[in-house]
Amino acid sequence: MPSAAPSVARSREGGGRRTEAAARLPRSVRRTLPRPLALCLCLCLATAAASTLPGSCRDKKNCKVAFSQEELRKRLTPLQYHVTQEKGTESAFEGEYTHHKDPGIYKCVVCGTPLFKSETKYDSGSGWPSFHDVISSEAIEFTDDFSYGMHRVETSCSQCGAHLGHIFDDGPRPTGKRYCINSASLSFTPTDSSEAEGGSGRASSSPASADRAEL
Ligand SMILES: [Zn+2]
Repeated sequence: MPSAAPSVARSREGGGRRTEAAARLPRSVRRTLPRPLALCLCLCLATAAASTLPGSCRDKKNCKVAFSQEELRKRLTPLQYHVTQEKGTESAFEGEYTHHKDPGIYKCVVCGTPLFKSETKYDSGSGWPSFHDVISSEAIEFTDDFSYGMHRVETSCSQCGAHLGHIFDDGPRPTGKRYCINSASLSFTPTDSSEAEGGSGRASSSPASADRAEL
């Protein structure tokens, strides 16, 4: 195509002229020329990085805390692994914490992040541990779940991405929320009884209380 040739030639010429023009500029000016380009590149990279920052931990590669699947298979029970890593659901009324009422903190069984306080646990009758509030708004992430032909909102640990359960809008006041959570996704740390009782020296040094502290 004859028409393409002149434009290529022109652009080459233009490029040549610009190079010559730059060459005529004082050295200090020439050095500053690439800066806008570099700045633009930095901004582009920063934008690209920001779009993949954790915020969404749906893809476990973006999670703040990551564990190898091999380690988790060793450390967790088969049910804990299935529920947290494969979005499984434990059988209703069979979970360890369904009817658990002790005071303390429920944590993510995978990474130990505190998730719920015992004060917000209530008996929903669903067969799974139910809470009307989360310990902090950053602890849990919410994701649309369209499995089984229905729309539910999945809850997962914001730190490691472990599947926890789902959230529903039929909870008690003041939140009106029901965090329906698998026991298999949780570990429980009881409130330190010696602290609650004002702490007696004898109790805190006894082997029994040391054992409790490790739980
Ligand atoms: Zn976690």
